This record gives sequence, structure tokens and C-alpha cells, in this order.
Amino acid sequence: MNVILFGPPGAGKGTQGELLADRFDLKRLSTGDLLREARRAGTELGRRAQQYMDAGELVPDAVILGIVREVMEAEAQRNGFIFDGFPRTEAQAAALADMLREMGTSLNAVVVLDIEDETLVRRLAGRLSCPGCGAVYNRYSEPPRVAGICDLCGAELVQRADDREETVRRRLEVYREQTAPVLDWYERNGAPMEHLDGDRPVRAIQTDLVALFDG
Ligand code: ADP
Ligand code: AMP
Repeated sequence: MNVILFGPPGAGKGTQGELLADRFDLKRLSTGDLLREARRAGTELGRRAQQYMDAGELVPDAVILGIVREVMEAEAQRNGFIFDGFPRTEAQAAALADMLREMGTSLNAVVVLDIEDETLVRRLAGRLSCPGCGAVYNRYSEPPRVAGICDLCGAELVQRADDREETVRRRLEVYREQTAPVLDWYERNGAPMEHLDGDRPVRAIQTDLVALFDG
């Protein structure tokens, strides 16, 4: 089973992706998480990605496709993948289609989380991320049990540098200009698409998502 969770920054792709990956025993592949790990580890990849991420711009396709290919090859024995934050350009979508074909598999669905910009700006301003295990919280809507501390691993939660309002506005523009057109590409290519209203409680969205894939 291979699913793309598609939507603007803050739509809830990571939150829902974690839940769905657990539920169906899939590998969640978040290119944003992989890039942040590379930055923390101080690798060449992390250094190449840094300036783009901090500016809210897309990291070049060649860099992204290199890390995606590596993870897909390493995890090829899994039941499938949940792609979160990837693909973000038509070139990435076309390359993903080729990689899946090479693996003898295909996409089950592109699930789009629909949501208004103003809700996203508010959500991202409140997002708290765990640098230890990647868990995501929200100061307002999904607070950790102890303020500032990850429920799962006990690490101190941080606000992502690119969740500052100026950068968020740029990321939303980049989404509209460069990433939303990927949906037209999927439509032209006949991919199975589902739209869900992303402006509902986490559990309501999760119930709909599970129902889509539970047969
Ligand atoms: P994305 O991966 O699409 O950027 P996240 O899953 O990180 O989005 O969610 C962005 C922020 O919004 C986080 O702080 C998260 O806790 C919160 N959030 C996610 N889903 C919901 C929801 N359905 N309702 C309210 N807040 C949510
Ligand atoms: P995310 O965690 O998905 O919000 O991604 C954070 C940042 O990482 C983005 O603003 C981009 O700079 C970069 N990034 C993540 N995934 C991709 C991708 N598929 N293509 C290009 N850049 C990406």
C-alpha cells in the first residue's frame, strides 16, 4: 500500500501520517524529517539543504530524489510507504512513479488535506516539534502532557525556525506556485485522488483516512 499525504505546510500530514503508518504497518517517509535529521547530523546533505529550508524555498529535486531513493531501497521489504511532504514538484512526482514501477508496485491514493491559509498560519505558530523522536504537538490544540517536554521520549520540544510567520507565508506561496500544480499532474495521469477536510479534529480526519484503506 503506497499513499501520498498531500497538502500545504501545517495541514496535518505528519500527524496523520504517523497514525496511518502505525495502523497499517507502513514506512512513513517524510522528506522534511530526513532533511532535518541530516542537518542535525551535520552531513553534506544537511549543509546543502539548510539555506533553502531556512528561506522557506524548495530544496533542489536532485537532492530530494537522492534521499528518497536511498530510503525506498533500504525499506523495500516493507508493506508500503506513506509519503509526507513528497512529491512537491512535477519532476518529483514523475520520478516517484518511475521508482514505484521499478519496485513492481504503484500508488493506491493521493490524499489531499484541504485547509485555509489562516488556519495554517495559526497552527504553525503553535507547532512544537520533538528533536529527539520527531513527534509533533501544538501549544493550543495538541499540547504535551508536561509543557515543553515530549510525551514519548522526554526531550525538550522546540519551535522550528521555519515556523516563524514570515517564513510560513513564503512556504504557503511556494506551495501554491510549485506544489499545488502537482495535483493537476496526478489528475492528468489518472491517479486515484481523495480530498478530506483538514480543518477538523485529528481523530475525525484519522477515522476517514482509516476508512479509505480498511477495505
Ligand atoms: P504538516 O506535516 O502537514 O506540516 P503537522 O502534522 O506537523 O502538519 O501539523 C501542524 C500543526 O498542527 C502541529 O502543531 C499539529 O499538532 C497541529 N495539528 C495537526 N492536525 C491538526 C488538527 N486536525 N487540528 C488541530 N491541530 C492540528
Ligand atoms: P516539511 O517538514 O515538509 O514542512 O519541509 C520543511 C522544508 O524542507 C521545506 O520548506 C523545504 O525547504 C524542504 N523540503 C521538504 N520536502 C521537500 C521536497 N519534497 N522538495 C523540496 N523541498 C523539500
